[in-house]
Amino acid sequence: MECKCVNCNCATNLYKYKCETSGYNLYDLDGIKIKKLHECDIDLETDNEINDTSNIEYCSMCNIRVEYPDSYDNVNHSFTNNGKKIYYYENFLKRNIIHNFDISCKYCSNNLEKYRLETNIIEENDENFESLSFPNDFINDINIYDLNNNLIKTFKPHNYMEYKKLHELTANISKNILCCPICKFFIMNNLQEFYEPE
Ligand SMILES: [Zn+2]
Ligand SMILES: [Zn+2]
Repeated sequence: MECKCVNCNCATNLYKYKCETSGYNLYDLDGIKIKKLHECDIDLETDNEINDTSNIEYCSMCNIRVEYPDSYDNVNHSFTNNGKKIYYYENFLKRNIIHNFDISCKYCSNNLEKYRLETNIIEENDENFESLSFPNDFINDINIYDLNNNLIKTFKPHNYMEYKKLHELTANISKNILCCPICKFFIMNNLQEFYEPE
């Protein structure tokens, strides 16, 4: 699977990143060792980081790696990367990861649908602060579309702190979400959640 580097836009590949006594090593998905990324300076006798393995996207051009989730724990409602919890996915502007998951809503237990969102972000700058009233004028409707561009529903958020999480979603890929068809809950491509109680 191809994805783009979070930093330099080159194609990256998916690897396993493993902490071993010989160093921090990169393996391909078939378990073949590719190379050592750096030395291991932890205490080999006592440190339980030894053999710790993560899923990563790795760019050989700029040597950057990004951890990504490979499954979702529907009981504890958390994403995991090789069994460890992961709360944020850094490459959310360039790779659609959220639509890989089959998740039930943590508030009402319906299955989340593969949708995308649109909203009109009002920037927090001097000009807008002078001419608009804060925070009400800074909160716009969130329109939720299915993958065929049919409008499914519209949220009218009232909590600006919740709404502000959407400011990061500047690329089309980042607007992919898993959304509950019933309640006002969705999960963004960066794994952050949005929820407004009724
Ligand atoms: Zn790069
Ligand atoms: Zn729900």
